[in-house]
Amino acid sequence: MQIHERIHIVGSGISGFGISNETDCTVYLIDGAGEYALIDAGAGIQPERILKNIEKTGIDRMKISSIFLTHGHGDHSGGAAALSHACQAKVCALRETAEYVSTGNLEALSIREAIRAGMYAKDYAFDACPVLPLEDGEKIKVGDLCLKVLRTEGHCSGHACYEMKFDKKKILFSGDAVFNYGKISLQAIWDCDLQKYIRTCRVLEQIRPDILLPSHGAFLMEKGYTYIEKAMEEIRRLRIPES
Ligand SMILES: [Zn+2]
Repeated sequence: MQIHERIHIVGSGISGFGISNETDCTVYLIDGAGEYALIDAGAGIQPERILKNIEKTGIDRMKISSIFLTHGHGDHSGGAAALSHACQAKVCALRETAEYVSTGNLEALSIREAIRAGMYAKDYAFDACPVLPLEDGEKIKVGDLCLKVLRTEGHCSGHACYEMKFDKKKILFSGDAVFNYGKISLQAIWDCDLQKYIRTCRVLEQIRPDILLPSHGAFLMEKGYTYIEKAMEEIRRLRIPES
């Protein structure tokens, strides 16, 4: 599903567009003209559906060089092992996420809690895989495009958004940091942190993206900053944005 000259959606479950396994977050494919990358990897329950969607774009999956994880929760990182293997791509994430995903630390990833909460089936198996650590502010080239890593915690530790510029427009892959209508995602898990979340909203407000591409729900192809402003409006009134 092509949404932009340089961006396709190749995975998305029930919280998005229903084109792959229902538990998958939205998986974006970035076209750097000859070199490609994925943002997130879905849950890993039916990675073949994501691979099929990649094939439908006409892009050779072997030209996908990297998979950038926004964070380690199962719906984002569970498919990293299968997709990185199928595409011979490296997986990258902020240091904490890299550690949790590469060691398959189910506690740190809150996967046991998510299974108990009914978010995944009881037999959900998480596949660990090697993940290269990224630093906040690091810039990585994907063909003729450049992604900037932004440490944006609050939803969980090691959460990153990725900023990209194209045609004078700022594009933000916002992960689970900020969603449509200015919603955020607070969860009763060990590493969810309201103070860090507020800091994240301030950082994202400064960036003022034109295009906002969250990992769940609708996206915004212009004035992407309006959703971030909506969250900040609540914060400025000392209220917690809707979760
Ligand atoms: Zn999450």
